[in-house]
Amino acid sequence: MKVKEGKPQKPLKVTTVHGIDIRPEQLIEQQKTDQTLKKYWELAENPVENGKAQFFVKNEILYRKYIGKHDGEGIIQLVVPESLREKVVSLADDTLLSGHRGYTKTLNRVSQEFYWPGINNFVLRYVSSCGLCQKVLLGRHHWVHYQ
Ligand SMILES: [Zn+2]
Repeated sequence: MKVKEGKPQKPLKVTTVHGIDIRPEQLIEQQKTDQTLKKYWELAENPVENGKAQFFVKNEILYRKYIGKHDGEGIIQLVVPESLREKVVSLADDTLLSGHRGYTKTLNRVSQEFYWPGINNFVLRYVSSCGLCQKVLLGRHHWVHYQ
């Protein structure tokens, strides 16, 4: 497939957040004004080479690249501003095939594409307050218990 010359029409990875209904410009604005993300903008400007997580900016949008243990490839995560975090988690929890499977599944799903400081705790808190997730967790607990 040949890529056409000129301005790339292909949307960024931001398409992944179309469910949370935000335009790239809004996302950029919120990323830039979010105090909790300040240090990541700085890290993107001065990348740390040996870190397993690196931050970078593409088309003005801030991303994190996480290099896993197994493959050198790593995953690219969109850095989510505070204002959108709840939406991101609830979407991941609610609308995906693996919905309401509790903390680990939800965290795995979210962190495949997104990152923000304190994401683990955030997801944990979210899941703890999600009635459906609690049901699933209880069910699983019994299952494990009686094995
Ligand atoms: Zn849930």
